[in-house]
Amino acid sequence: MLDRFNRKINYLRISVTDRCNLRCTYCVPTGQFKWLPHSQILTFEEITEVIKVAVELGIEKVRLTGGEPLVRKDITELVRMIAGVEGITDLAMTTNGMLLEKFARLLKEAGLMRINVSLDSTDPSRFAEITRGGDLNKVLRGIDAALEAGLHPVKLNCVVVHSRYEPDALRVAEYAASKRLEVRFIHQMNLSEGYFTTVEGGEGGNCSICSRLRLTADGLIKPCLFSNIGFDIRKMGVREALMTAVARKPASGTVNQANNFYNIGG
Ligand code: SAM
Repeated sequence: MLDRFNRKINYLRISVTDRCNLRCTYCVPTGQFKWLPHSQILTFEEITEVIKVAVELGIEKVRLTGGEPLVRKDITELVRMIAGVEGITDLAMTTNGMLLEKFARLLKEAGLMRINVSLDSTDPSRFAEITRGGDLNKVLRGIDAALEAGLHPVKLNCVVVHSRYEPDALRVAEYAASKRLEVRFIHQMNLSEGYFTTVEGGEGGNCSICSRLRLTADGLIKPCLFSNIGFDIRKMGVREALMTAVARKPASGTVNQANNFYNIGG
């Protein structure tokens, strides 16, 4: 699929749940907010159907995100269903790693190819502060389990406030070097204010080469992270929602007041 600006659209990022087992300060709001009712969350069959149609239209790469994808019940079964769709050349996941020790081998067996683990600090108390209660050791054990399971490559996502040279990021870089892992440094973004920059070590944030569509946990195809627009697969039908999203994909991001990171998946 080519969009209006001749960009090849071949990458679908899927938020499989809006629920998360962490409350990262920059991601999950502090005030009152509501999870999606279970009845609105896409079933595995609906997600797989979107992927089948998307692959027919030219999608080749799929990433599962959230919320936290590993808190979605029977996630390995979903991975197995997606891995069975012919035409996917890259099946990846972004996780906070808290449950990865338990899941790494099962994910690999189900057909997951590679994994990104979010890690903003290797100092246990800073990690707990940023994630509002997360246990660093669980994540580090999860990373080891992913390496042992042969999920390749394992990459780290590190959100930075100002630069990759701030103390938490430097510690993450040191840890990554010791394990020979790549790190993507992501500057903290603000959806409602339209603040984003390019990801260091990744392709995100560079609108001129953006190849992405997103699927929210409740069935909206979103053509751009920094836009309010989205097309409902249940109301429009999957093919029409996908094609409309490509046709309406903006040249560059502006603002998104309709979503938070925890429900669109970053
Ligand atoms: N729970 C999973 C995780 O933590 O990786 C997947 C969902 S999370 C929303 C996906 C990515 O978005 C994570 O790497 C997270 O650090 C990043 N993220 C969340 N809020 C962000 C923000 N305000 N600015 C930049 N990145 C953000």
